[in-house]
Amino acid sequence: MSQIIHRSLHSTPPVAVSAQGAYITDAAGKRYLDACGGAAVSCLGHAHPDVLAAMHRQIDQLAYAHTGFFTSDTVEQLAAQLTRTAPGDLNYAYFVSGGSEAVETALKLARQYFVEIGQPQRTRFVARAQSYHGNTLGALAVGGNEWRRRQFAPLLIDVVRVSACNAYRDRRADESEQAYTQRLLNELEQAILEAGPETLIGFCAETVVGATTGATPPTPGYLQGVRRLCDKYGMLYIADEVMCGMGRTGTLHAFEQDDVVPDIVTIAKGLGGGYQPIGAVLASEKIVAALQAGSGLFQHGHTYICHPTAAAAALAVQQVIERDNLLEAVKTQGARLHQQLREVLGELPHVGDTRGRGLFAGVELVEDKASKRPFDPAFKLHAQIKANCMARGLMVYPMGGTLDGQYGDHILIAPPFIVTASQIDFVVDTLRQVIVEETGKLAR
Ligand code: PLP
Repeated sequence: MSQIIHRSLHSTPPVAVSAQGAYITDAAGKRYLDACGGAAVSCLGHAHPDVLAAMHRQIDQLAYAHTGFFTSDTVEQLAAQLTRTAPGDLNYAYFVSGGSEAVETALKLARQYFVEIGQPQRTRFVARAQSYHGNTLGALAVGGNEWRRRQFAPLLIDVVRVSACNAYRDRRADESEQAYTQRLLNELEQAILEAGPETLIGFCAETVVGATTGATPPTPGYLQGVRRLCDKYGMLYIADEVMCGMGRTGTLHAFEQDDVVPDIVTIAKGLGGGYQPIGAVLASEKIVAALQAGSGLFQHGHTYICHPTAAAAALAVQQVIERDNLLEAVKTQGARLHQQLREVLGELPHVGDTRGRGLFAGVELVEDKASKRPFDPAFKLHAQIKANCMARGLMVYPMGGTLDGQYGDHILIAPPFIVTASQIDFVVDTLRQVIVEETGKLAR
């Protein structure tokens, strides 16, 4: 019996013993196609030789040095790489160990910015329903994923909640996409005015929603509208790209496709591709300038910030993506994936929606396609799908729907950027069989 507190306290997952390319092998010798990168992490696949070599070089030379005493060339190079490739004046980077830490850092940086410029009364954030920003208490507070938050209320930060941008679920039948987008922006402006803009720090949102509703992209113009409202009311726009960022959607940052530049961006998962735990915050010139002109100190820090070995892994991952032009591969293979999902799964009676961008795709399952009624969460359809896929040697990332029927069970697909056409075919064919089998057991 394992002595680890696993995710489920009733079962122990298979033991992973090795991994290569797009595959993980367990202790029984069974191979799994990792079509979700764990949780959209393994963007280069496993055991990439260039990343391993960079990590080996780094640990031979300097595995760790505390930032209270030193910086290191590798971390400086990673910051230079990330700020060179970021649009606008996102000219600064802060390195942490993962996504939740990145979000906590972003929230504190935004808060301190307003303290430094003499507006300390701005203490609240605006964030959306159906969102996930991490599992630490500050990140849970901005997150709008109710089942994750329920047990931990009261949470630490006061948040004004607005609707998610989820066209499949919430756009009315008689409403154009443009009108739906405008309705959401009107709601956001109303919420800002009711809360009092002078009390608000900023708006925090995932560009493409990942872990709550499954690769749900914004409608055209939505994020531009968000940017305009943030500017109008003196608020910061924080883009949480922990899951959808670093090339996963076909551009390095997903927001590039929406033609906006946030003030603060959080990244993690694909930054280090799973080779080391690492996350980062990118911050614009005005934020850092305010801290420089003010106290001269960001009142934050963790023992492992700017970890040289983690930075070496991330730098190598990002250099390989750039050198091998992998964003093009994401676009090409992503187009194949989405087309197949539409054509092969879209016609199934219980597939309500297929969506996403690049190699970040979601499939939402419903009991009734016309009314979009989800399956009863008590069926735990997502868990059955996961188990069935694992039995067939396929890793995808299914998640449950909500009790109140806001959204249904869904499956997140996020293969590595090196995925091949035949691997995509396997993913879609296997999913088809599994969905038919598992929904067949439930349909009334
Ligand atoms: N933000 C988003 C958008 C995420 O998807 C996640 C994790 O899934 C997090 C933050 C938290 O990241 P981590 O699990 O590395 O703490």
